[in-house]
Amino acid sequence: MDAVDLLDTLDFERLGRDIYDFAREAYPICRSITGDGVRRTLEILQRTIPLEVREAASGTQVFDWVVPPEWNVRDAWIKKAGSGERLIDFRAHNLHLLNYSKPVRRTMPLAELEQHLFSLPDQPDLIPYRTSYYQERWGFCLPHRQLESLEEGDYEVVVDSTLEPGHLTWGELFLPGEVEDTVLFSAHICHPSLANDNLSGVGVCAALAARLVEVERRYSYRFLFIPGTIGSITWLALNRDAAEKVRHGLVAANLGDGGVFHYKRSRRGDAEIDRAVTRVLADAGERHEIEDFEPYGYDERQYGSPGFDLAVGLLSRTPWSRYPEYHTSADNLELIRPEHLGASLERYLQVVAVLETNRCYRNLNPYCEPRLGERGLYPTIGGDAGKEEQLALLWVLNQSDGETSLLDIVERSGKSYAALRRAAVKLEGAGLLEAA
Ligand code: ZN
Repeated sequence: MDAVDLLDTLDFERLGRDIYDFAREAYPICRSITGDGVRRTLEILQRTIPLEVREAASGTQVFDWVVPPEWNVRDAWIKKAGSGERLIDFRAHNLHLLNYSKPVRRTMPLAELEQHLFSLPDQPDLIPYRTSYYQERWGFCLPHRQLESLEEGDYEVVVDSTLEPGHLTWGELFLPGEVEDTVLFSAHICHPSLANDNLSGVGVCAALAARLVEVERRYSYRFLFIPGTIGSITWLALNRDAAEKVRHGLVAANLGDGGVFHYKRSRRGDAEIDRAVTRVLADAGERHEIEDFEPYGYDERQYGSPGFDLAVGLLSRTPWSRYPEYHTSADNLELIRPEHLGASLERYLQVVAVLETNRCYRNLNPYCEPRLGERGLYPTIGGDAGKEEQLALLWVLNQSDGETSLLDIVERSGKSYAALRRAAVKLEGAGLLEAA
């Protein structure tokens, strides 16, 4: 079975529920760009895919960057001095702690504590997500309403964390195909309790990998579950040979909300992946947005840096920062839905199906049109459906000069990819066409 046949056999509603179950299990884990939270999340993924866990030691030079010390946290809280009650408790919600906070254990007045508190005045009931990876500090995040209610006086502050030489950890799965040319799927795995950004992307990629394990593959596939920015930089620095084999790729993020699909083109702008995703979204018949590359966003910035210039785009639903729940405690398990996750997986698999089957054919009967009826190819359905089928056959025959791909013909004819692909399979079966 190949990726095209696979599409017809899958129940994407059920798969969407499976992805949601993964997100629910992984949601409470405190992840960061390093540490045990990433390892525990990869262990969950290893139950469904044969993921390899890889690490780079703190201090490793990776291009212009250095792998940072490893961060782990046992506990963190703020109490009113002399009171047993935790006013802010990392164990209640891991977003309460500024991610990568250095250890602290002190009592201090409110005026000093306030310099370490982060809130969102415009969204006063939500906890913001804040990080400080490369400047050593500590801090807490809390709803603005709670911040405003803090009384004068002394507060006991504890961050029971470690920031020590260790490792940066990521998950990697390579599925060899007929050719070494590789399709890359990359999802960032460094966010703590945030569902759409990016347990949705991690879950969709893992589900896609699990499906592709089972099928015949023309391309090789590489899946990366990496911390954002420093993870892709580390992987690219340590795997330059593998990076050079990447022909097409997608960064997966924000795939569980109810927004329309957004595709951000690769740096190249007109690469085959850009055309394949554009076609899949158009053929799905839903509203969607196609946007140009910009050197800001997720790891497509690193894959698309000029030294690599890999054809890697970003396929998401509502893009990062454009939904009000983004990077807050409202990006939770209510924001993502199984049906959206399932439909996202379907689009990803449809992109794979296009990449796997897009090729150039040669018409073996190029002097005038062949007689389709003689070969049992004349559509037996009357009306519009039959006409469409006949047109698809004629387009493929007419354009197949050995140098024109199915995607080229789709773009010129306005027919769907699936219709032209079906026509090509029929014509090949009838001996009128061969793969160039
Ligand atoms: Zn984010």
